[in-house]
Amino acid sequence: MVDRVGKNYVLKEHEIHYPENYDFRILHYIYYLEIYPEESRIKGKAVVKFLGKDLILHARHFQINKIKLDGKEANYSYDGEKISIQGEGKEAEIEYEAKPVLGLIFKKLKDYIEVATTGEVDQARNWIPILDDPAIKTTTEFYIKVRKPYIALSNGRLIDKKEDGDFITFHWLMDKPHSPYLNSIAIGMFSKEEDEWEGVKLENYLPKGYEEFFWNLSSVKKAIEFFSSYTGVKYPYCRYAQVVLFSMNGGMEYITSTHLTWRVIHDKIAEKNYSSENLIAHELAHQWFGDLITTKDWPNIWLNEGFASYFEALYVEHEKGREEFLYNLYNKWKGYEEEKEKYTRPIVCRYYKWGDELFDRHTYNKGALFLHKLRNFLGDETFRKGIKEYLERFKYRSVDTEDFKKVMEEVSGKDLTFLFDQFVYSAFNPSVEVTSIDGGVRIKNEVEVDVKIGKEIRKVKPGESLLSGEYVCVDPNFTSLAEIEDKQGEEALIKESKDEELICRIRAVTSLSRFSDFKAIQALKERLENDFWGVSYESAISLGKIKNDDALNVLMLNHENPKVMVGIAKALGEFKFNQKAKNFLLEVMDKAESYHVRAEAIVSLGKIGFTDVKEKIISHFEDESYADVVPSAVIEALSYFGDDESFRFVIDRGFKNEKETIRAAVARNLWRFGDKSREYLYYLVKDPSPIVRGATIKSLEELKMKDLLRTIVDNEDEELRNRSNALRVLYKLGQ
Ligand SMILES: [Zn+2]
Repeated sequence: MVDRVGKNYVLKEHEIHYPENYDFRILHYIYYLEIYPEESRIKGKAVVKFLGKDLILHARHFQINKIKLDGKEANYSYDGEKISIQGEGKEAEIEYEAKPVLGLIFKKLKDYIEVATTGEVDQARNWIPILDDPAIKTTTEFYIKVRKPYIALSNGRLIDKKEDGDFITFHWLMDKPHSPYLNSIAIGMFSKEEDEWEGVKLENYLPKGYEEFFWNLSSVKKAIEFFSSYTGVKYPYCRYAQVVLFSMNGGMEYITSTHLTWRVIHDKIAEKNYSSENLIAHELAHQWFGDLITTKDWPNIWLNEGFASYFEALYVEHEKGREEFLYNLYNKWKGYEEEKEKYTRPIVCRYYKWGDELFDRHTYNKGALFLHKLRNFLGDETFRKGIKEYLERFKYRSVDTEDFKKVMEEVSGKDLTFLFDQFVYSAFNPSVEVTSIDGGVRIKNEVEVDVKIGKEIRKVKPGESLLSGEYVCVDPNFTSLAEIEDKQGEEALIKESKDEELICRIRAVTSLSRFSDFKAIQALKERLENDFWGVSYESAISLGKIKNDDALNVLMLNHENPKVMVGIAKALGEFKFNQKAKNFLLEVMDKAESYHVRAEAIVSLGKIGFTDVKEKIISHFEDESYADVVPSAVIEALSYFGDDESFRFVIDRGFKNEKETIRAAVARNLWRFGDKSREYLYYLVKDPSPIVRGATIKSLEELKMKDLLRTIVDNEDEELRNRSNALRVLYKLGQ
């Protein structure tokens, strides 16, 4: 049965949301901003060109100094959230001051203060008066005045810079219509690298002093070429900038000027485990899906995020091949499965309290996997034709899911109602079960699935089927969006583990963890030692689940690929109080060049429980590493020990640490020390970093500290993702 509504998603705080209608049309905004980073303050003037009457603008917690309508003193009201200007007019002028706590972050660094926007979802209203609705697209212009030598970046092209004593004003113009949340500023001390692609200016900005890492951003040129060619629509603007910021925790696709987290900065050692290419591709893909065409409202946000996530995977397919592509999709599915344990909902969903709640794995991961299903159903050529038509027809406009569906139907000549109804408008999660029977295989499936038997792929209709063959592989192209349980017998799985299709091998090695005999372990050993790294990684994880001596002996392997070594180190964490595992992990911890491998070995040493390695673990706390993964792992390992000495170290060196990465590790793992950690959580929920405050939620959940969770939910100045996560945990704890 198709589940229409889903489970455990809707909360009593939720309301239903529809797009709004207005009696006026906004054409253009001009903003004159003076930024005072030391005081976290801005002074501004907004000029709003519009047609119609009774203009409404969002403006959160502003001090309004003056409002004029067509040059005359205006008749207006302001309630701290919305400005309503009465009467007909063409131009409104608002003078204001603000000290934003959301929407514009003032991040204190050693030598200067970085200022950057966080526009999505409804945050632009915290620093500019604007009709903050994604359906309303306009052109914009920013004059940003800062003290020298600060640099002020924004959207579109730089018209000019004017110096005036100690100050400098940057004038930016974005002359293509775009949604409010796509407006941005970034102010700081940057080094710039410039390039060009087919007349488009490419600009990369890194914080001053990080010039040697420009190569971390260079894949953008390949990506812009690929997306332009795959979609058949050339990159639509004159400039594309990537700005790396310390205040960012991910990426944000501001129009022509993407903001990226400092975590993209990495050296050649980290590059073996981590690549910035996926994030770069994701944010760039948004310039088409999100910026050129924008969701009309947050319920349709998958049109931005599901698309950017799938196009990021398509870039991986193009650059790194089919196995990397399928493994990327497989991991998106695993991510979705985790969330599916907590709740399910239709991808398009009108219920929420804060729009931020919809930025979950249903939107990103399931949205991307649905597009993969659609592409396979239509064929790549038709899919691309449809994407091109969709982009061309709706460019510079906002859309909903029906707009996309209709274009795909028109181009393909097929009715797609059943696909969209089941997987986008319903919370349907079909299941498929495969079991071995005498001389063949039995398949119980709720949806039609592809089944690979030998070299042939057959479509199997819903219902129960018996197929002959030594083994089968269900859904080798990973298009079913179904939960597949591969319960074939050991012999069948061993054969499946050697199939030429990646998805078949992954299913087989995952299912082989149900066995613990020599043959299953031997099959996993083969895959661990000699396969695509993703299959080797999954084989290591299965060996960890088997958890016997034979599995341990196979796992104690120095694999040349550090991504596989992460899996091995992780799997060894299953061998509690095992001396051999301990010795092997100690060696990995001390000898591995890879930061990620060292970190995983440290965490596993904590998990297996020998406290006599504590000193050795602590000796790595000062290790330099990518994004502080090693010291963060030390904190986590000590939390598994849970003793007083470990606790003192975590408090003295972690809780009081100046780095937010390390304080976040403390916040996330503190609960393992039990009641004595409670008093510290009262401080951590007030930490200046939203990342640290967000990380406390895990500990608050484990310690059932409902009072502090409620504090987060009720704090009007808290980031909405933290508030919504805390709210959901409160429900899980029974309020
Ligand atoms: Zn995105």
